[in-house]
Amino acid sequence: MKREPFIRNDQFNLIKRQVLHLVNGHATVNDQHVIGAMESLSVEKAIESFPVLTDAQRDLVNQMVQVVDKETAEQYLMELEKYIIPFQEPSEQKLKKLFPKVKKMKLPKENLNFQRMTFLSFDDIGTKKRYMIVPTQKGLVGLTGTYDETKTKQICSICNRLTPVCMFMTKTKGESIGTYTKKGNYICQDAQDCNEHVLSLDKIEKFVENIK
Ligand SMILES: [Zn+2]
Repeated sequence: MKREPFIRNDQFNLIKRQVLHLVNGHATVNDQHVIGAMESLSVEKAIESFPVLTDAQRDLVNQMVQVVDKETAEQYLMELEKYIIPFQEPSEQKLKKLFPKVKKMKLPKENLNFQRMTFLSFDDIGTKKRYMIVPTQKGLVGLTGTYDETKTKQICSICNRLTPVCMFMTKTKGESIGTYTKKGNYICQDAQDCNEHVLSLDKIEKFVENIK
């Protein structure tokens, strides 16, 4: 099959979770019927996350049932990863449009893995500001806020896991001139780790709605 990317990063994360679930199943369950049922359910969950699939794409997702242990899982995921739609690196112009108030915005050269990215996030450590480029149904949205690490783990608003988080504080204009509303959300300190665990775009949509 021609290698045409068709898997969103969040869909890959969801499939990966199912694959790990299968590895765990094979290691702990002996009953072939139970294993079979687990496999069907995992494939179904993965397939369901796609609105449409070609036959070849469906076959690729179905190959999940060949996973029996860590090694076969790794092989399968490595193959699947080649089909992830990478996050498109924004041009300078696009950055200006997304962050009109920020002068001379520059993306960091390191630590950005566009292949495993649902949203782009980077920090300005000096000013403790976090910039995020987040997909919504209306297109990409630029978010600017300050961040503060918390001492305890909390549930991340994006990937929904209990992780070391930071409080991401954003300011939006209020109803009358000169007033602002501040909103805070717990999100993973480690944005790349968050990107590798976010399971759906709905959570992100809600996160943005909550801020805007
Ligand atoms: Zn997270």
